[in-house]
Amino acid sequence: MNTIKTNDKQYIASSYGRFDVLFEKGEGSLLFDENGKRYIDLGSGIAVNTFGVCDKVWQSAVAQQAGMLQHVSNLYYTAPQVKLAQMLCQKTGMKKVFFSNSGAEANECAIKCARKYSFDKYGEGRNVIITLKQSFHGRTITTLSATGQDTFHTVFGPFTDGFRYAEPNDFEDMKRLVDGKVCGIMIELIQGEGGINVLKPDYVKAVEALCRENDIMLIIDEVQTGNGRTGTLYCYMNYGISPDIVSTAKGLAGGLPMGATMMGERVENTITPGSHGSTFGGNPVCAAGACSILERIDDELMENVKRKSKYIIDTLSGAKGVKSITGMGFMLGVETEKPAREVVIKCIENGVVPLTAKNKVRLLPALNIPDNLLVEAVETLKRVIEE
Ligand SMILES: *Cc1c(COP(=O)(O)O)cnc(C)c1O
Repeated sequence: MNTIKTNDKQYIASSYGRFDVLFEKGEGSLLFDENGKRYIDLGSGIAVNTFGVCDKVWQSAVAQQAGMLQHVSNLYYTAPQVKLAQMLCQKTGMKKVFFSNSGAEANECAIKCARKYSFDKYGEGRNVIITLKQSFHGRTITTLSATGQDTFHTVFGPFTDGFRYAEPNDFEDMKRLVDGKVCGIMIELIQGEGGINVLKPDYVKAVEALCRENDIMLIIDEVQTGNGRTGTLYCYMNYGISPDIVSTAKGLAGGLPMGATMMGERVENTITPGSHGSTFGGNPVCAAGACSILERIDDELMENVKRKSKYIIDTLSGAKGVKSITGMGFMLGVETEKPAREVVIKCIENGVVPLTAKNKVRLLPALNIPDNLLVEAVETLKRVIEE
């Protein structure tokens, strides 16, 4: 084994079950390993490299800002952060944005925001957030608590109090959990890490109405589904709902760390000076990168994502060894007869890089993956699944 792999094992905390591949560089939807072998990327990191690797427009926006001002404290104004916040609000109708550096932090802010809204209006004790079983909301102690999977609630206790877990797509179960202590409902519209489980439109509409009736903040975790991933700028737009709080991260800055928590009119004044903060949040280089991404998520791009998504579904749904396909746009889960990890390892050997999500092969290609590369990658994937 080469020294990078052995030194990785020696010096890096072993939190990841890495696949046996060392990527050195890339271009668009192509990745190259240390031996120059070519791969077609169907994962974009994990939905991070929105326009692929080293996209020229993104690269120049980032390089230009890095050469001008890489950071000042949030005690001062900077142009890229303001431009990005304005773009997010104008494109969504949300009112204000708080910037952080990751999905977990974006969700922490969302949770704080829902609790403070309730505290300001109703006083202490109305602090419970309902989330869904099989959800994933992050790795901090509080977002682990929010994550509705028992496997995450074992060794790191004590966990943060005030979370209840509802069965997804079961409105009666959600209603049963709502009482005078609940201040927020936080959901992923497509559960990503949980296995690409799509929420039903009727269910989501009913949850929205339940929130309105009880003055409960509707929080949509769009860390993975956001930024064009599902064929609309944010996935909630597919459902015709108006969330109170939307968190996003992964694909927002096209490969740089950035989280954003968007607040609707009910909570736009909830965060006050001193009540929340972040040293790096809204960093000018990340913000410049994010502006260059958001500017290009337009109707034409979204139509192409939908068209290419349909191509993937049409091609794989008839294939031998495929049990089901779930998801929307470029966030798809393929349930296969073979174990998903086995399929991914075989694909990597054959120069294609998908991901897994629970028992599914997960596909999260760059939004601008060229047709010829997509066809080549899907043919390889299909062959691996079938053989
Ligand atoms: C990845 C993910 C997170 C956590 O994001 P980090 O940037 O790893 O903290 C939270 N919610 C969802 C839905 C995610 O997919």
